[in-house]
Amino acid sequence: MRRLLREFLLAGRGLHGGEEGAVRVRPGEPGAGLFVGRNGTFEPLRPALAVPGTARCTELRLAGGAVRTVEHLLAAVAGCGIRDARLEFEGPEVPILDGSALPWAERLLEVSEPAGAEPPRRDGGVRRLRSGGSWYEATPAARATLEVAYEAAHPWIGRRRAVWGGETGSFVREVAPARTFARWEELEGIFAAGQARGGSLECAVVLGPDGPLGGPLRFPDEPVRHKLLDLLGDLALCGFLPAYRVRAVQPHHAANGRLARLLAENGAGGGADQSAQ
Ligand SMILES: [Zn+2]
Repeated sequence: MRRLLREFLLAGRGLHGGEEGAVRVRPGEPGAGLFVGRNGTFEPLRPALAVPGTARCTELRLAGGAVRTVEHLLAAVAGCGIRDARLEFEGPEVPILDGSALPWAERLLEVSEPAGAEPPRRDGGVRRLRSGGSWYEATPAARATLEVAYEAAHPWIGRRRAVWGGETGSFVREVAPARTFARWEELEGIFAAGQARGGSLECAVVLGPDGPLGGPLRFPDEPVRHKLLDLLGDLALCGFLPAYRVRAVQPHHAANGRLARLLAENGAGGGADQSAQ
């Protein structure tokens, strides 16, 4: 666990809208959890703030206006072990930066210090969720760990698996640097849907038929690591990282959000399996 010592601000263009935005990250009250807001007004981060069913990013509906693409920032906060923080948004979208969580993680580490062990949490029983081709199983654990299986019929993806054991060090080294990706053949549909208007090879990996465009991958399995990063960010919508070992097959934002709701709403007690179509 780490404690923020001072605030910082990061600004830049958003991936989907292409507009300038910024986030001011401030220390939070000890034990209060994660808060989000605009113009100095904050509310507790919780899954109900997320717009359900978004496809290519996670969007929060806040009192002062919606903000898109919060997942990489939230993954960095959770992955770095920051439990108490206030995230203040300016503009319609969180800056995409290099498409990964690394710039956020680096700043968070600079302005924080170790703050002892995680307090024990009392979370619920085994939870399962199925949504189309996606499947999740969450088993209560001493601390949050993630395992993601992801498969795509693409020579640069194939069938992959990524694991995160819950430590800040391995998050920063092995998960945070994995960038947003898109397959070449998806781009036409993405642009036609008005998404990725701020997209470029500086902030995303495009997987072409003959290899990645704009330089080499940071890891041979960078796409599945990014899938894990997105899942981590979406689980942090709970306002904390639920104490579960989560296994996910073909995760995506809309289903990740449903899992976050399931784990937050059934956080304490109970033991029944839950599933939803
Ligand atoms: Zn992402």
